[in-house]
Order: sequence, then structure tokens, then C-alpha cells
Amino acid sequence: STMPPLLSSIANAGRHGVLAKSAVVMEKLGATTTVAFDKTGTLTEGTPRVTGVEVLAGGGLDTHELLGLAAAAEYPSEHPLGRAVVAAATERGITIPPVTDFEARPGLGVHARVGTRRIQVGSPAALLAGCDGTARERARAGVARLEATGATVVLVVVDGVPAGVFGLGDRLRPLARQTVHDLAALTGTTPVLLTGDTHTAARTVADEVGIGEVHAGLLPQDKVALVRQREARGERVLVVGDGVNDAPALAAASCGVAMGRVGADLTLTTADAVVVRDELATVPAVLRLSRRARRFVI
Ligand code: ADP
Ligand code: MG
Repeated sequence: STMPPLLSSIANAGRHGVLAKSAVVMEKLGATTTVAFDKTGTLTEGTPRVTGVEVLAGGGLDTHELLGLAAAAEYPSEHPLGRAVVAAATERGITIPPVTDFEARPGLGVHARVGTRRIQVGSPAALLAGCDGTARERARAGVARLEATGATVVLVVVDGVPAGVFGLGDRLRPLARQTVHDLAALTGTTPVLLTGDTHTAARTVADEVGIGEVHAGLLPQDKVALVRQREARGERVLVVGDGVNDAPALAAASCGVAMGRVGADLTLTTADAVVVRDELATVPAVLRLSRRARRFVI
């Protein structure tokens, strides 16, 4: 071909299912020293299902009411956990009441009103901090029981009182373990896991894919700080995220690759590249391509 190597590498990347923003991106990809993975929607498929529901005494709700209110609060959410809660209610034939004042808090959860009731669904650690004494202890026990199963646990709080907990499970993406292995071989460093989920849930996934270093309970800005720290040490971090709430980390890293999702909007505003084929194994494939291209220009 008459194309310069980096440009033809973009075309090659395209054939592999990766949409790269520019030739510079291909060069940055090839310089990667560390790969940092998001968990939900990146190493996992991002279509979790509710696997356990526990109603908390003191919340005054039954299972159907709990699911209905939680699904109402999650209805406008684009987060995979939110969609799972809505699906759980729908599958049980539960009518989802309308909401007002919906607000999504990235890395934390959602907040909305159903009539006069204030519903919060999200990270137990964050929500329990605002609840009082006995209710908090009761909720902690419920959270611990579901967490012990390796599930991702979200708490439902109604008018300030913990009313129930959900356990959610997500399947690993095919080839997740192989991809981690290939990237370790390519960069000489085992990838790390950055997640907003709890340490227990993160550890379960990390063990399954062969990742040792896990940073859990991170807010989107904590992911940014971690990436910056490593870059300051001279590392070149490639962040692979799902784009729902990883936009800041994708933008902060030397290179950000977003896992595209069918129906999701594939803009390249914050990520440098998008995996359009939705297969994790395209990441090492493209890293290999970009390295080959770099060898020609350097
Ligand atoms: P990850 O880093 O694994 O992609 P997120 O940053 O998206 O995770 O979310 C971190 C945590 O915040 C979740 O594990 C959950 O506890 C909570 N959370 C975020 N969004 C939602 C939501 N829409 N519904 C319930 N919980 C949520
Ligand atoms: Mg995610």
C-alpha cells in the first residue's frame, strides 16, 4: 500500500473492529506500559441480572413494592445496574410507577422521587453513611450476606431508611482471561483493575481473569487520580472502560479505549478509540498492530 504505516494501521485497526481517532492514537497505543481495566461493562458483559433480593425489616416494604420503587428510580438510568433492576421488576410483571427529580450520581447511584417518597439506589457504603444506627446495622448484615456470594450489591433507601438490598451478577466477557494474559505478555506488566464496586465483588472478577492489583470503591475522579499518579511515574496507561461513567479516566489516560455497546453512541469525544465489535480481544490485537506501525516510523 502507498499509505504511511500509521495511517494504514488505522485502517487495519478498523478491520479488527477498533475505531481509532487519529494516527497519533495508534502511536500512543503502541507506547502503553500498563493497561487499566474498568470492571462493569468492560471485563464483564455489562448486562448484569438481579440474582438476589432481600427486604430489610424496618423499611416497611414487601418484595414487589421494593422492586417497583427501585425500578422507578432506575428507569431513566443508563447504568447497567439500573437496567438490571428495571428488568427484574418487568420480568415479575411489576408496574413501575413514574418518577420525578431523577438524578444520577456517577460511581454512586441514583436518586429520584416517586410521589412524595424519596428513593435512593446505589453503593451501600455511600448510602449507609447517611442512615442512622440500628437501621444501618441491619442493612450491613443484609449487604454482607449478598456480598459473600460474590455479587455486586446495591442498597435501596426510601425516605432515608434502608428498605432492601439487591445482589447482581454479570458474566465475564468471552476471552477476558486470555486478553489479560496477552496484554501482560505484550506490555510486561499485568493489567490492573479500577472499579467503583466493592473489594469483594472486584476480587471475584480479578481472580477469574488473572488480575492481581485491584483498586475498588473508586469514584470516577479517584480513577483519574490513580491514572495520573502512574503517568507521573513515567508509565503510559491505557484505560479500557465502557464509557458510561469512565469518561474522565478515559480522557486522563495517555490513551483511552471505550468498549462500544450496541445502541450506545459511539462518539470519540472522550475516548481515543472505540472497540466497535464489542470484543475484548481486539485490544491486544490493536496494540500489536500499533507496535508494528511504530517500528516503521521510528
Ligand atoms: P464500575 O467502576 O465497576 O464500572 P461504577 O463506577 O459504574 O462501577 O459504579 C460503582 C458503584 O456505584 C456500583 O457498584 C454501585 O454500587 C453504584 N452505582 C452506580 N450507578 C448505579 C446505579 N444506577 N444503580 C445502582 N448502583 C449504582
Ligand atoms: Mg463501568
